[in-house]
Amino acid sequence: MQERTYFVEFVCVDCGQTRTMKLETVRGKEIDRGCLCGIVCTECDDLAKAKSAKKWKEEKALDRLEKSGFPIGKVSAWCYGDAKRNKALEEWIWTNRNEALWIAGYPQIGKTFAALRCAMDESEKGRLVRWTQGNDLFGGYVDALRESSAKASAYIRGFLSCDLLVVDDIDDPGRFTFTAGQLMYKLLDGIKNDRAKRIWITCNILKGELRGMFESDNHGAKVEERLRDRFRVWGGAPAAPGGELNK
Ligand SMILES: [Zn+2]
Repeated sequence: MQERTYFVEFVCVDCGQTRTMKLETVRGKEIDRGCLCGIVCTECDDLAKAKSAKKWKEEKALDRLEKSGFPIGKVSAWCYGDAKRNKALEEWIWTNRNEALWIAGYPQIGKTFAALRCAMDESEKGRLVRWTQGNDLFGGYVDALRESSAKASAYIRGFLSCDLLVVDDIDDPGRFTFTAGQLMYKLLDGIKNDRAKRIWITCNILKGELRGMFESDNHGAKVEERLRDRFRVWGGAPAAPGGELNK
């Protein structure tokens, strides 16, 4: 039997618009009009598909951030606009994003969120970003050291195997023990001669306080020296012997 095409009108259940659909007869018969309720038009269907594709993409992006160590609770606080923003700091980080950054200042001024915003942008651009909390960073190092010094070295290399390492609240554990001081200067040494590698560090240490926070004065001096050589400093710059650090 020769089938023929015909047009039927239906009301889209999504947008409520009357649409027309082209159908073909089946064994010469047209469709029962009663079957045409509950139909979604092509436009609405495409929109739904685009929406779920967008959601999927967002979920993927969130997944990637979580795997990179980003604090997902803070990421969503950011995305939903609950974050306290420090736009001046955000701008400063963004302007200096290709540098190693030491971001010091009082608690609650928005350091974490500013770093988060910029690090997320870097990640979106395809850079390999790793996020860690000061506490976790030092805790993991102590565990690795307990196993062997080779494990400890591998641990540090692991953190440096990315384009950008963000250490949030590096002074969270309080005073830097001998081990923590060692880890800190080794990390800073790891990027010393590699301009492609960056570390952004946030801390609550204020001007002049840094040196005194190290159990080993030798570590304190080494860290200060590396900060001077390689880092841009925001806020309470640690006082350097014979001059200010953030000139
Ligand atoms: Zn529709």
